[in-house]
Amino acid sequence: MHLPCRGRQTLLLDADDTLWENNILFEKAIAAFISLLDHASHSPAEVREHLNRVELQTIAERGYGTESFRVSLVRCFEELSSAPPTREQHDSIMRCVDAIVAAEIRLIDGVREALETLAQEHRLILVTKGNRLEQLEKLERSGLAPLFTAAEVLEEKTADAYKEIGRRYLCPAGCTWMIGNSPHSDINPALAAGFHAVFIPHANTWMLEDEDLEEPPPPQHLLRLERLGDLPQHLLHLLREETTDGR
Ligand SMILES: [Mg+2]
Repeated sequence: MHLPCRGRQTLLLDADDTLWENNILFEKAIAAFISLLDHASHSPAEVREHLNRVELQTIAERGYGTESFRVSLVRCFEELSSAPPTREQHDSIMRCVDAIVAAEIRLIDGVREALETLAQEHRLILVTKGNRLEQLEKLERSGLAPLFTAAEVLEEKTADAYKEIGRRYLCPAGCTWMIGNSPHSDINPALAAGFHAVFIPHANTWMLEDEDLEEPPPPQHLLRLERLGDLPQHLLHLLREETTDGR
């Protein structure tokens, strides 16, 4: 066991589908969109596959967020239909996305209590990607903002972006942890940046975030937990072990 900074750690926390439900809202919107399109020859799964391709293209051009998602749905409709959407169809597509924007923030069970406990001993920094205003506004509405020292909204969560956060907030790699539900964005690039990581899978993770987990080289740690609520106890245990090891 080797955790060089006894006591206070820096905990970088993902937001969507780690602290609060998010992808399920998009899934509902996509289901409504597929019913609306009601395609004569493409199955719902085929429409879904096409939408995934369109989303990758839109995200590359415009970044993440609901505005970008609106563009993806309209593009997908246009590409799979013989005619562009009528005014009425366009309004219906917009309503699918309006439901995402209007939804209450639903915290995942145990998150508030876990963060309140962790914030007493450690520094918490929110690290998310998406539309900056949208993500910061969700943090405010969640009621969790006072527990965080800072919030970073990245264009992409790459190893370089994590290293930059490490430099900016003076986070020694040995006592910095990235916690999230996405192997692709939260775990693998944070491990590549030299941080520890905590993977908390979510049954509704966005399929574009799926990836095999890397195994970190020692002394880096990768914890796999079922829920964020279990983190305070696990972290306490690890830090105690380090103390009793006499290091
Ligand atoms: Mg997430």
